[in-house]
Amino acid sequence: MAGIYIHIPFCKQACHYCDFHFSTQTDLKSKMVEMICKELIIQKDYLGKDCIIKTVYFGGGTPSLLTKEEIAAILQTISLHYKLDLEELTIEANPDDLSPAKLQELKALKFDRLSIGIQSFHDEILKFYNRSHNAEESLKVIENARNAGFEKLSIDLMYGFPQADHSLWKTDLQIATSLEPGHISSYCLTIEPGTALGSWTQKGKFLPASEDFSADQFEIMQDHLERAGYIQYEISNFGKPNAFAVHNTNYWKGIPYLGIGPSAHSFDGKTRQHNIANNAKYIKSLEMGELNFEKDLLSREDIINEYILTSLRTIWGTDLQKLEDQFDTSLLELKKSVINEFQEDRLLALKNQYLVLTKEGKLLADYIAGKLFL
Ligand code: SF4
Repeated sequence: MAGIYIHIPFCKQACHYCDFHFSTQTDLKSKMVEMICKELIIQKDYLGKDCIIKTVYFGGGTPSLLTKEEIAAILQTISLHYKLDLEELTIEANPDDLSPAKLQELKALKFDRLSIGIQSFHDEILKFYNRSHNAEESLKVIENARNAGFEKLSIDLMYGFPQADHSLWKTDLQIATSLEPGHISSYCLTIEPGTALGSWTQKGKFLPASEDFSADQFEIMQDHLERAGYIQYEISNFGKPNAFAVHNTNYWKGIPYLGIGPSAHSFDGKTRQHNIANNAKYIKSLEMGELNFEKDLLSREDIINEYILTSLRTIWGTDLQKLEDQFDTSLLELKKSVINEFQEDRLLALKNQYLVLTKEGKLLADYIAGKLFL
């Protein structure tokens, strides 16, 4: 079993923090859709001839910018060339794109899950981020989506916006949980080079929040969402029981996936590859019937370390038996003193055959994983 990710590399405007691959020039949109369909056909055996596709995820960029016909063309290509037994069909969307008519179209296309980029319910923050929607649209979108028949709703929030106190973040969390989406993804604002925020920070025009401030907001979020009945099943992802994202969970469990579109990544269980992150070059290659990607052959250590990094971030933790069975590696023996130290500091726990982060350990997930790497 496996998943397919479709990257739609267009946005209405550039959010000031974003370093994903996208373009605000949408004149290539229909050509891009044609080439995405072409890549889907060329790559139809990447995951193996008999592979069953369980999840399809439209991400970006902003997939909700595509017309109904453009999305239908991609979905039709997938259904013609892949074996499907879909458990989840997700599309990312921004609130300003989700008019009642658009929501009806997405429903008619058989999407059963919406991932909505809300980020905040405050206009001052949305404006600062240069988001294309406003707070009123953030507030209305969940109701509109429910009216259109969507039950599986996820919203994205963002914390770490520098403020004198945590009042705006607390209000964002309160509003989010009062709307009762089944799933919430929440990421810390990070300052990436090449973004507007990166440049303002470098020039001293923007002072990011301190690590302590963001860590406090992370803990406020953990407490609030836990009280509201959400399970932190991955460091940045919270779901009500039975509302965890299947597509993303499969990534974290090391299940193969095919990424289509510029900058998309693929994983076949042994190697990773990533498509060129340039719309014009991506289109040009495919017009000639060629794929333009780079491939990383992963060493045994790479695969183990990646598994530790991703699995430790999840509620299920790192399966030590799996490491022994598949890689003949006993992490308990190799990293005995490190594991003992983290256990004494109550950052890590051993539950049967699984190494699991404690609530406090989740704040230091990447640091702890790094110490466990081979
Ligand atoms: S809409 Fe999403 S992908 Fe596009 S610029 Fe904003 S954060 Fe980035």
